[in-house]
Amino acid sequence: MAKYCRMLFVWLVVFCMAPLFVEAQVRHEISFPDIPGYKTLKCDLHTHTVFSDGDVWPSVRAEEAWREGLDVVAISDHIEYQPHKEHVKHDHNASYQIAAEKARSLGVLVIKAAEITRGTPPGHYNALFLDDASELEVDAFVDAVRIANEQGHFVFWNHPLWKGIEKGRWQDIQQQLYDSGWLHGIEVANGSDYYPEVHEWCLEKNLTMVGNSDIHRPSMIEVSTADNHRPMTLVFASDVTPEAIRDALHAGRTAVWMEEKLIGKKQYIEAIFDGSVEVRPPHFRQKAGFYVHMINRSHMNIELKRMGDVGPEEIILEANATSVVQIKHPENDRPASLEYEVANFLIAPGKGLPVTLAIAGVRAGRTAVD
Ligand SMILES: [Zn+2]
Ligand SMILES: [Zn+2]
Repeated sequence: MAKYCRMLFVWLVVFCMAPLFVEAQVRHEISFPDIPGYKTLKCDLHTHTVFSDGDVWPSVRAEEAWREGLDVVAISDHIEYQPHKEHVKHDHNASYQIAAEKARSLGVLVIKAAEITRGTPPGHYNALFLDDASELEVDAFVDAVRIANEQGHFVFWNHPLWKGIEKGRWQDIQQQLYDSGWLHGIEVANGSDYYPEVHEWCLEKNLTMVGNSDIHRPSMIEVSTADNHRPMTLVFASDVTPEAIRDALHAGRTAVWMEEKLIGKKQYIEAIFDGSVEVRPPHFRQKAGFYVHMINRSHMNIELKRMGDVGPEEIILEANATSVVQIKHPENDRPASLEYEVANFLIAPGKGLPVTLAIAGVRAGRTAVD
């Protein structure tokens, strides 16, 4: 009998304490270093909810962003395409309000945005940092972009090549927006698509590169990893505020992480490389060379291809890990410079970031092979 009383007591304790053990909403961080002067914010600037053609309630977008290690998510429902409007109230500001309320308790930032949606050309454009999204519901496409700009927004062209290169090429309408100063960026990546042509346009025209999920369905990602993560824009901002993010976007301080690639202007992805990779002095020297530890503190696998004479032809530095690398070098006590290209850090289409890995020599008074 005493045994049953004890069991009953244990069950009562568990039952009464249960509310204290509600499962926490956990987040797994995405590791990219801050760069000199700026925080590196992980942002998805293009997502949908049931308030346009998405399949999820807006608060879910905030929860997904938190869980996957993002800092910022823009809710950018279509202004002109509302397939659920029979069942969901037609209000262009509602999806932001619902997502932002959830986001406040999680500590993730939601940006109010909208997708100006027309046939291609001109295509689809996201306007960020909106005051009142309903003001964009006007007949003429150019008027919608003008109104977005009058409110001081950031406007980018979405998935330019989704209807093929012929419809998605740079046309008069894009030139008109660009000449008016109304087009500030373009998606070089959207979902699983990377557009080398767009990468080139951004470099030529000094437009901001962004890359986003354009997610419509629920995200199935539990933990973002090097090979399973949503495409995102890294924004280098002075603070985690809409104002600082807007300044960074207008200044072109971004890089795009999609699949195994980091895409961006050289100065920014070089700063990410410098903050991520550390080459330690050799820990073991032999007559034929030495062994070094190479540390990669980023969330990406880094693919190094040899450009000079020294070092292995290819080195893969696994994400968030330390690799042991053997370097054949007959002058094993001398400093060495290893010339490589980071094949998956793209400073232009098909062109990786050139880097020099410096290996320390043996300090005076010590011998190379002890
Ligand atoms: Zn679109
Ligand atoms: Zn979209």
